[in-house]
Amino acid sequence: MSSLQAQLDLACESIQHEIGIGKVADYIPALARVPADKFGAAIVTVGGEKASFGDASESFSIQSISKVFAITAALNRYEHRIWDRVGHEPSGNAFNSIVQLEKENGIPRNPFINAGALVVTDALLKDQSITECSDQMLGLVQQLADDHTITVDNEVAQSERSTSDRNAGLAHFMRSFGRIESDISDVLDVYCRQCAIAMSCEQLARSTLYLANGGTDPIAEIPIVEEERARRINAMMMLCGHYDASGDFAHRVGLPGKSGVGGGIVVVVPDVAAVAVWSPRLNANGNSHAGTAALEALVRITKWNVL
Ligand code: GLU
Repeated sequence: MSSLQAQLDLACESIQHEIGIGKVADYIPALARVPADKFGAAIVTVGGEKASFGDASESFSIQSISKVFAITAALNRYEHRIWDRVGHEPSGNAFNSIVQLEKENGIPRNPFINAGALVVTDALLKDQSITECSDQMLGLVQQLADDHTITVDNEVAQSERSTSDRNAGLAHFMRSFGRIESDISDVLDVYCRQCAIAMSCEQLARSTLYLANGGTDPIAEIPIVEEERARRINAMMMLCGHYDASGDFAHRVGLPGKSGVGGGIVVVVPDVAAVAVWSPRLNANGNSHAGTAALEALVRITKWNVL
């Protein structure tokens, strides 16, 4: 078996022709300004071995990948009770869809669609100010990545906040069912700041390693979330991590993963590693086109698969 770096190089080189395919997200104006043809990938193993490719150390907007960190924080604060407010079923709908909420009494299907993430943010905001809640989320990410230089990209946060009619609509609709308790403007402020955290593939892979190791950061040897809860987060990632293309991602990659409209994807290889890829051009379902292709090539080479 060739080295980790050689395997990553082989996988990434084999898909370079895919980088020009797809479209950068432009519904958040600041995201449309990202150079479209960037590509990075990074692996960190539970034993601490690292491999990187291309633009792996360049920061990008993690967007919905932040929902993994938010549900981790919510599980630590509310334990299983958080599942009374947000479900754990795939939605089969777009990430920002409102259609199921009416039939399902304002309870979102899962924490990885926007409605679910807004409920999680509302829960985290309880008894805290916007600043405390945002700082807590950033602090968690910095701890997980073991890197205190990670920050929020304020331009992206403001850009999303000033165009967040759809998310505001979801929040108001859920409040009509009594599902949101905080001020909606505060929920949106915190949510947009969380999505605008900027991280590199190297930082992202490091920060999700706890999910490959039963909830404990294997390098810092710090318990992050209980083992059973880590398993549930991974189950969510497997079933719901790629919007309504989660089935297609499982079919092609076969690992728990979470994507964001900034073009990032993280995947967890239980007991082995965490992998992050970034390529801003998205496919029709809002997932990184070349990033997905790179992960598909990597699992073919490494045989990393939970299925
Ligand atoms: N901040 C984005 C939104 O709410 C996240 C979307 C995503 O990455 O899926 O629209």
